[in-house]
Amino acid sequence: MRALRLMPYGSDVPSTGETAVAPNMPDYEEARSRFSWAAARAELAGLPDGALNIACEAVDRHADGPLANTTALRFLGRHGGTRDITYAELRHETARFANVLEQLGVRRTERVFVLSGRIPELYIAALGTLKCGCVFSPLFSAFGPEPIEQRLALGDARVLVTTPVLYKRKVAQLRERLANLAHVLLVGDEAEIAEISGVHDFKRLMGAAGDTYEVAATAPEDMALVHFTSGTTGAPKGAVHVHEAVVAHRATGRIVLDLHPGDVFWCTADPGWVTGTSYGIIAPLTLGVSSVIDEADFDADRWYRILQEQRVSVWYTAPTALRMLMRIGVEVAHEYDLSALRFIASVGEPLNPEVVLWGEEAFGMPIHDNWWQTETGGIMIANYRSMDVRPGSMGRPLPGIEAAVARRDAEGRPILAGDGSLELVTSPDEQGELVLRPGWPSMFRGYLGEQRRYERCFAGGWYLTGDLVRRDADGYFWFVGRGDDVIKSAGHLIGPFEVESALLAHPAVAEAGVIGKPDPVAGEIVKAFVSLAPGRDPGEELRKELLGFARKRLGAAVAPREIDFVSSVPHNRSGKVMRRLLKARELGLPEGDISTLEPDA
Ligand code: ATP
Ligand code: MG
Repeated sequence: MRALRLMPYGSDVPSTGETAVAPNMPDYEEARSRFSWAAARAELAGLPDGALNIACEAVDRHADGPLANTTALRFLGRHGGTRDITYAELRHETARFANVLEQLGVRRTERVFVLSGRIPELYIAALGTLKCGCVFSPLFSAFGPEPIEQRLALGDARVLVTTPVLYKRKVAQLRERLANLAHVLLVGDEAEIAEISGVHDFKRLMGAAGDTYEVAATAPEDMALVHFTSGTTGAPKGAVHVHEAVVAHRATGRIVLDLHPGDVFWCTADPGWVTGTSYGIIAPLTLGVSSVIDEADFDADRWYRILQEQRVSVWYTAPTALRMLMRIGVEVAHEYDLSALRFIASVGEPLNPEVVLWGEEAFGMPIHDNWWQTETGGIMIANYRSMDVRPGSMGRPLPGIEAAVARRDAEGRPILAGDGSLELVTSPDEQGELVLRPGWPSMFRGYLGEQRRYERCFAGGWYLTGDLVRRDADGYFWFVGRGDDVIKSAGHLIGPFEVESALLAHPAVAEAGVIGKPDPVAGEIVKAFVSLAPGRDPGEELRKELLGFARKRLGAAVAPREIDFVSSVPHNRSGKVMRRLLKARELGLPEGDISTLEPDA
């Protein structure tokens, strides 16, 4: 088996610049040796008799103390304007929502869904839902009626918060099929809402509700959140999380994102995906920092302006956005005063080494990649502020997380020894499936309605992530590819990410998606789909140049044999390259579940 290497492997970049704020975790090894989840848990406020509630940790614990008048959430409106909500106000607003639910007769454990853009009511509903012991599930606002119906039905939704436009376009037609959906609350214009039958006016109910509420004494193992996965490999799954997850949200916010009091934090993910809830809502609030939330979608100038004007100090974003910023040129970054930035992290997809190094040029600091999944509920493997970044590596396991690499058989299943234990890779750089030792607080507790599938995620005492990685001699993990995406070509196992990264190093390439195309001789050949940077024209000459460029970097066995130019590489709405779709289209096969696909793909 070939060990995959990433360029420029080994060229370490120091992860700390001259900065006055000391990292929360100054020494990884030391932190790892003394970390315990029990100690992380002890830092929470908790509730009497061992009860634990995410909303208490995120909101109420701060609302009476010195943070009462600190901005918890700052909303930047799509068309300008800001709204600040302090911790004290957030406590009242979430209490109102909890009272609204109670007055509607909604009981603990029932599910409250929100389908909206990044508006204040989404955040208030999320935390108010948790406050009264109900279960919160966010839905991405651009979903069409079918994915909405599937998720509301699977999640047994009792309440839906949305807007008049979204309701009329997407939900009204589903109502009679969703018998359990008792209450729909609309956020918007009073007169418009009054004309719609079978709904409540969110603002009116909130206005009539009391602004105090005693947080429900939920047990740590009570269900709190349902998150649907991104649907990159197939139909999305509903991952169930419990209140105990907040232990990991807070700990990772401190250790990985290095959040400090006084920080201005910007997590660009939408709460429709797990990052936008774990880190766009919960983690920063548990640490008492101020979050910026932008209602609008990605726009390079707007984003740079937000970083500058809001004096963002910690920024958590995604490779797709960073690649787009990189392509418009480093000079654009230099036009802005980004001196408040102290730490940048990225998640969701492999972060190409090229982008990490560009971070140095653009912001004076590398971008810190980290890895996790909807199922893990929080960051599991990361590059830390106090540790050297190896560009292209996702870093080292969180203190408190045991990660290993498991061998897989020809069918891609991990190999079990006679005593039931997993056969683990022992030598550095051998690739296999990333497995994690279960037991961390934010681990999912099930897939809604899919118990068998959940059980199949575990073997030999490990959780199987479905991702292929290798670990180098120093314990850094390197992403190879999703189990399903790996290409088998003439006896080589090739991770599409390695090929995409090599192509991306060419200035003409904006995005690349790589698949294995069946071939009678090689089994599969590597085929790349490439979209070009602004101003670059596709053509035979450029195709040849890219083929040669990739061959030089990767060698003939790994380099793509075919390159197609496309206007855009299909991504799903959480920013991941949809390789299975590229493959289905190439082979003329059914496209499968595309509920999460970006529409212009
Ligand atoms: P589905 O499970 O429905 O196919 P998904 O796996 O894309 O969708 P998420 O849980 O949102 O849904 O994404 C987690 C996956 O994203 C990881 O399993 C991994 O494949 C990829 N990923 C996340 N962060 C990184 C990273 N830093 N480097 C490489 N891959 C990453
Ligand atoms: Mg997944």
